[in-house]
Amino acid sequence: MRSIDLHWLSKRDKWLILPELRIEHAGDVHRNYCYYYPPGVWTMPSGLEFDTQNGLIFINADYPAKIESTMAHEWRHHYQHHSGMKSIHTYNPELLDWSYENYKDSAKKYFSMLHERDALLFQCKMVEDEGYSTVLDMVLN
Ligand SMILES: [Zn+2]
Repeated sequence: MRSIDLHWLSKRDKWLILPELRIEHAGDVHRNYCYYYPPGVWTMPSGLEFDTQNGLIFINADYPAKIESTMAHEWRHHYQHHSGMKSIHTYNPELLDWSYENYKDSAKKYFSMLHERDALLFQCKMVEDEGYSTVLDMVLN
């Protein structure tokens, strides 16, 4: 059995309401992440439904090496939502298309959304993850 290291979380953001946290096997349908936008109901890959009133962090267990860094990334979105940082949400569906042939361009576009850039910076600061550090380098250079 694998344990996950969330030491960075133990001393942070204790005022935040706890979100639902789900770590489930989801294949490649949902990739490795999700953060909700309340209010609403989120249907899990397993078919279970959750009220997302307090937030919901979903992590795909099929990417076990990414659980900690994904947790940090999605936690940051939770923090953004509840801390008054909503104004940095610059969601733009045109920036969501990710081309693996133009990975660097895609990463630069995606992380030009301020809430995504903030979450990427946070996750790279809190959790060592070579893959996301590479993405951060691409985004900043
Ligand atoms: Zn994100």
